[in-house]
Amino acid sequence: MQYLLRNRYGASLDVTGQFGPTTEDRVLAFQKSVCLGETGVVGRYTWNALVARRSFCTGNTQGGAAQRLLDHNTAGRIELWNQTFGKFDGADPLSNIRDTAAGKAAKTSCYGTAPCTTVRLATGLVNGMAALREQYGYSYFVTAISGASHSATSYHYAGRAVDFGTINGVVVSGDSTLSRNFMQACRNLGAIEVLGPSNDPNHQDHVHCAW
Ligand SMILES: [Zn+2]
Repeated sequence: MQYLLRNRYGASLDVTGQFGPTTEDRVLAFQKSVCLGETGVVGRYTWNALVARRSFCTGNTQGGAAQRLLDHNTAGRIELWNQTFGKFDGADPLSNIRDTAAGKAAKTSCYGTAPCTTVRLATGLVNGMAALREQYGYSYFVTAISGASHSATSYHYAGRAVDFGTINGVVVSGDSTLSRNFMQACRNLGAIEVLGPSNDPNHQDHVHCAW
């Protein structure tokens, strides 16, 4: 991996066989250059990009990760809900990610405390969702991103939060090792607000991660 970074991609580093801070820095730069989530971890997608000279860019970084999320959804590796809790208001997770992949702002809903506007999804959010699949291997069901009604000052309305109702085929219902591990993965990926059964009485049936 260091050899490829140095000799194929011109990265300034020595081939030592040791994954130190300089190597991590070069991996982060490489991931950024090919529009992968900047995790510093060389998972399947980063390795694929290194070996096959593959880029995941489609005009902007959010678009690249958003398009991959659509691909994962189509392939059944994740599920982006195509409705907003029974409403078809274009603010559902699938529409949010489709809009983002197309370089557009995502819709919020127009009921409850929702602001009835549009918002650009945060790059960290879209990359985080992609990395949960691509670096951690999770399959998950997304119930809301910018749509639906939440608390009045929710990160959802800022395009920075996502709710997961199912993890690896298991419905989130009370505390579990699975939900704790998933929450920790969000934190590892830089999430600034992580709520779930283990730390919030109002989040017993889903995990909420915000970037
Ligand atoms: Zn939430």
